Amino acid sequence: MFRIGFGYDSHRLVHGRPFILGGIRIPHEKGPAGHSDGDALIHAVIDALLGAAGLPDIGNQFPDTDASFKDADSRELLKKTMTLVHHKGWKIGNVDVTVILEEPKLKDHIPGMKQTLALILGTELERISVKAKTNEKMGFVGRGEGLAACAVVLLEKTPVGQNTGAER
Ligand code: MG
Repeated sequence: MFRIGFGYDSHRLVHGRPFILGGIRIPHEKGPAGHSDGDALIHAVIDALLGAAGLPDIGNQFPDTDASFKDADSRELLKKTMTLVHHKGWKIGNVDVTVILEEPKLKDHIPGMKQTLALILGTELERISVKAKTNEKMGFVGRGEGLAACAVVLLEKTPVGQNTGAER
């Protein structure tokens, strides 16, 4: 039993906000605006997970009208999402993410993002892919006004009685 989910997110990049992506803080002059920490990569993964599990989307789970999610650490939102996914009897097959932004360069930070995701998702590193590309200077991403992230998730049904990985 397999289910596929897709997630997309984008955030404006503004001065005076820390640049947080994939749970990693990266030195940069701007950071993502948002009610939470603005981690577009994790938000895209959350929506892909929720979509695959047939659950209401991120805006329903963690509304930006709820003060408790103000400046929320998106890693905590992802943990909560995985609890929902595990309770429905699903575990991670694999996760594939593409981030689209001009700056900063993510190459050196991708291993840390993958580690962070693997730990929270309760799966092996080899099941996690994070890729980054520019938008060739086109559009809002190209002008450095924002960034975007897309994620695809495959979920596998956990055989009855088998550990979901949630306890790891
Ligand atoms: Mg978002």
